[in-house]
Amino acid sequence: MKQHDAMYIDGSWRPAEGDGTIEVVNPADGRVIATVPAGSAQDVDVAVRAARAALPGWAATPPGERADRLAALHGQLVARAGEVAETVTAELGSPLAFSTAVHAGVPVAVCGSYAELARTYAFEETIGNSTVLHEPVGVVGAITPWNYPLHQIVAKVAPALAAGCTVVLKPAEDTPLVAQLFAECVDAAGIPAGVFNLVTGLGPVAGQALAEHEGVDLVSFTGSTAVGKRIGALAGAAVKRVALELGGKSANVILPGADLGKAVAVGVANVMANSGQTCSAWTRMLVHRDHYAEAVELATAAAAKYVPGERIGPLVNATQRDRVRGYIEQGVAEGARVVAGGPEAPVPGVGYYVAPTVFADVTPEMTIAQEEIFGPVLSILAYEDEDDAARIANDTVYGLAGGVWAADEATAVAFARRLHTGQVDINGGRFNPLAPFGGYKQSGIGRELGPHGLTEYLQTKSLQF
Ligand code: NAD
Repeated sequence: MKQHDAMYIDGSWRPAEGDGTIEVVNPADGRVIATVPAGSAQDVDVAVRAARAALPGWAATPPGERADRLAALHGQLVARAGEVAETVTAELGSPLAFSTAVHAGVPVAVCGSYAELARTYAFEETIGNSTVLHEPVGVVGAITPWNYPLHQIVAKVAPALAAGCTVVLKPAEDTPLVAQLFAECVDAAGIPAGVFNLVTGLGPVAGQALAEHEGVDLVSFTGSTAVGKRIGALAGAAVKRVALELGGKSANVILPGADLGKAVAVGVANVMANSGQTCSAWTRMLVHRDHYAEAVELATAAAAKYVPGERIGPLVNATQRDRVRGYIEQGVAEGARVVAGGPEAPVPGVGYYVAPTVFADVTPEMTIAQEEIFGPVLSILAYEDEDDAARIANDTVYGLAGGVWAADEATAVAFARRLHTGQVDINGGRFNPLAPFGGYKQSGIGRELGPHGLTEYLQTKSLQF
C-alpha cells in the first residue's frame, strides 16, 4: 500500500519537524502495515501559517472556480474509489464490499454535492434595503475520527473549500492512510497550495495544538463527547467558532402495526454495520410489550447472520475491543439477557473481533441503555404505550438520530416530532447526502452535509443601503 513518511503542507509533501512516528495496524490481523509521521505543535503551526497565507486568494476566488476545483476533486475520488476501499479495509478492517459501497461511495456523493452547491449557493442575498454577504469564516482546523475515515474528512473539507475557507486536517491516528490518499487527490485536483493541509499525529499533541492555535478561526471536530467538551471549552474561551459532531444512543422505535419483520431486520443491520462503530447507530430497539417476544426472536435470528471475519469486521483497535467487551460483561452483570453473541461467543483467534451481541430484558437505567458502546451490541427494550416509548427514547444525554416504524407514514411522523434528535428515519428511510446531519443535546453543535453544512463555514455581513 502506498504511504508517505511526510505530511502534505503548502502544496507539497514535507518531512515532520520531529522524528516521532505512528504505526498503522490492520485490525483484522494485528499486523503493522505502515508508519506515518506523528506531527508536533511546530508542524501544526507551519500548516496553519500556510493555510492563513492561502486564505485571501482562495476566499476571493469566484465560487464557480472553487466549484470547478471541487468537481476535479470529485473526479479524483471517483477514479480512485477502488484504492480508497482497499485502504479503509486495510486500516479499519471493514469487509471490502462495505468499504466499496460506504467508505468509498458516500464521500463521492458528498463531494459531488458540494461541487454543485459551490456553484448554486446564494453567497449574496437581498433583504429589504440590505445586501447580505455570506463570507468564509477563515482557517478551519478539522479533527476527524476513524470510524468513517474518508466520509468524516470530506464532510468537513468539501463544504469548507466550497465556502472559501482554507483547512488544516488532523485525521485519526488509526486511519491516516486514507487521509494521505485524500491529500493526493486534492493535489491532483489543482487546488492551490496551502488551501488544504494535512498533519498526521496524536490527538493530545497535534489535535490539541490545532484546537488551541490562534490562527484557526473555526474548529470542526467529530469524535467522542469527552474530547468534544474540551474542544468546545477551548473555543469558548477564545471566542472562536466551533462545530461538534459527538456520540449518540439512538432509538429505533417500532410502533404497533409496523412491519415487525422488516423493522427488526433493518434495525439489526443498522447496528451491525461497520461493526457498530457508527455514531448514529440505532443501539436501542424499542418494542411494544405485546410484540416484544417475537421481536427478540427475530433479532436473535438476524444477528446470527453476522459471522465475525465474514460479514462483520473487527473493531478498530484492541482498546476499543476491550471497551466493548467490558460493556457486554456489564450488561450481563446488570441483569440483561444475552440472546445472541455475548462474552463467551467464539470469535477469530487473531484480530480485534467482538461477537455481534443482542441483549433482551434491557431496562432504561442500565449502563448498556445509557452509554455509547461503539460496537456490535443491540439492546432491546419493551414499552407500554407511545408516551412510554417517547420517554424512554428521549431518556439519554444524547440526541443524534433514530428510527420510527409504523403502519403509515403519518403515524411515524407524528411520533418522530416527539424525539429530541437531529435526524429520524421514517420506516427505514434512505440516505440523503443533502439532508442536515447533527445532534441535539450532548450529541453536538452544528450540522454537516448539504446547504446547512455549508453555512457552518460562512459568516454573515450585512450592507445597509
Ligand atoms: P476521540 O474523540 O479520542 O478521537 C477523535 C479525534 O480527536 C481523533 O483525531 C483524535 O486524534 C482527536 N483527539 C483526541 N484527543 C484530542 C485532544 N485532546 N485534542 C484534540 N484532538 C484530540 O475518539 P476515539 O478515541 O477515537 O474514539 C472513542 C469514542 O469516541 C468511541 O468509542 C465513540 O464513542 C466516540 N466516537 C464518536 C464518533 C462520532 O462520529 N460521533 C466517531 C468516532 C468515535
